[in-house]
Amino acid sequence: MQINCERLKANLIELSKIGYNEHDRGIYRPGFSDADMQARRWLQEQAQAAGYDTFMDGAGNVFFGRGELNKPAILMGSHIDSVPAGGIFDGSLGVMAALEVLQTMDDHNVKTDTPVWGVATAEEEGRFGGMFGAQAMAGKLNPDWVLSAHDADGVYLKDAMAAQGFNAMDALDAAWRPEQLKAYLELHIEQGPVLFQENLQIGVVDGISGVFKWIVHLKGKADHAGTAPMDMRSDAFMGLADFAHEIERIIAENGTDKTRITVGKVELKPGYPHTVPGEAIFTIVGRDMDEAVMQEVANACRKTLSAIARKHRLMFEYEQSSWLPPKPCSKALTDQIEAQVKQMGYSYLRMPSGAGHDTQFLSEITEAGLIFIPSVNGVSHAPDEWSHWHDVENGANVLLHAAMALLPENGK
Ligand SMILES: [Zn+2]
Repeated sequence: MQINCERLKANLIELSKIGYNEHDRGIYRPGFSDADMQARRWLQEQAQAAGYDTFMDGAGNVFFGRGELNKPAILMGSHIDSVPAGGIFDGSLGVMAALEVLQTMDDHNVKTDTPVWGVATAEEEGRFGGMFGAQAMAGKLNPDWVLSAHDADGVYLKDAMAAQGFNAMDALDAAWRPEQLKAYLELHIEQGPVLFQENLQIGVVDGISGVFKWIVHLKGKADHAGTAPMDMRSDAFMGLADFAHEIERIIAENGTDKTRITVGKVELKPGYPHTVPGEAIFTIVGRDMDEAVMQEVANACRKTLSAIARKHRLMFEYEQSSWLPPKPCSKALTDQIEAQVKQMGYSYLRMPSGAGHDTQFLSEITEAGLIFIPSVNGVSHAPDEWSHWHDVENGANVLLHAAMALLPENGK
């Protein structure tokens, strides 16, 4: 049994026209924008035309499928909002593949009592700082956040939703109870270079990496760059540079092959060419799939920075601005997907996801599984995001068979 790749391709291309910008060839469907809502209505029309029931919940999540939702459902999906100047596959792939799987099951007359539904979640890309639709489904919203969330331009979530006819507080009623779900399956592009560079067809995702973010201050003394002798300085940049060189050692001694440490933002004060920098303020973002490893890596960063600060006569302070534990996918479901992929003969890798996905919230209320296909050159969140159609086809076939394997009629 195989999905119909031509139908899936036609749907993805049709959807990519909504919010398309001719100048930069990117897709603009930020959560609750007119284009985003147009895409949601288009999806509902497509699903209805194909003979499915559809509804939109109070958070803007669109559901499509058949069969009353009166027993544990298999839900497949992803999101259809985009970042500004996004590509055609991020999120949309998982949603249109879900519709394709439903249609393929119908084409082959698959009869089941298990409700099988698709979902296009709302505002996954975090315009308002969360993963709104999936959080609503997982019951992870609170009224205070819903009313205070706003985007980078100061537009409030509640106002953006009101402009589209929603009452934001209705999102609090969108939660699913765990007993309503049997499993959630998401197909997504990798958005990184690993599968593409290693020439692998499928990524079987173990879970979403945990991530911590620190804001570090190294404080020394601003001095005249000409009069202060080298051995009498408290140069904050030297401390930062020393730390950068220690990152590889910290990972080798305390991390795993899944550990990432990034210094992504740096500010030197006073930031003048002729002045020894008296202060370095920078971010450290650390990731791993194991929270104990994250802890070890964080401790190693702290010890290393303390030692460096002593050496350069600096004061070291840090503030932990976030600590998100790893979100493992269901081990049983992931093993099952892996077995499926093996049987289908695809080359694959068990891998973590370094990016966040709807799966991380759905995993809190049901067995969740995440499947990746390669991103050409690892590019995403950009107009030149691309995945080859044969990879799209493989991924959708894995989604199909992963869903089929969950039907009780197939022995589960
Ligand atoms: Zn995405």
